Amino acid sequence: MIELVRAADCIACDKCVDVCPTSVFDRTDSGIPVIARQSDCQTCFMCEAYCPADALYVAPRVTPLAPDEEIPEDQVGRYRREIGWGRGRRPGSLVAIGPELPRAQPPRRG
Ligand code: SF4
Ligand code: SF4
Repeated sequence: MIELVRAADCIACDKCVDVCPTSVFDRTDSGIPVIARQSDCQTCFMCEAYCPADALYVAPRVTPLAPDEEIPEDQVGRYRREIGWGRGRRPGSLVAIGPELPRAQPPRRG
């Protein structure tokens, strides 16, 4: 569930507002979006993936953090880093781990 827009890093591009499928964010006059409808978040990570400033944190769970739970600094923008989106990063698809897939013969032509 979306937990944080880190204002200090946000560049006010509104990409998170545009990609969120459930309109969780509201635009503001300052340019820094606010989390207006947290309970509508479906934890899809799209906003975090698209944020060019690594300014968002989506917790990998479907309920909000408890009031006394702190967000570890190194978790902010981590999803985007892990999937390798962003300039100079290695695409996550190149380092993904999965089962060995059978190599089929290419289909015959003609
Ligand atoms: S995780 Fe998905 S649903 Fe939740 S705020 Fe981000 S884009 Fe919207
Ligand atoms: S995508 Fe990131 S940088 Fe752009 S407005 Fe949203 S939080 Fe700010």
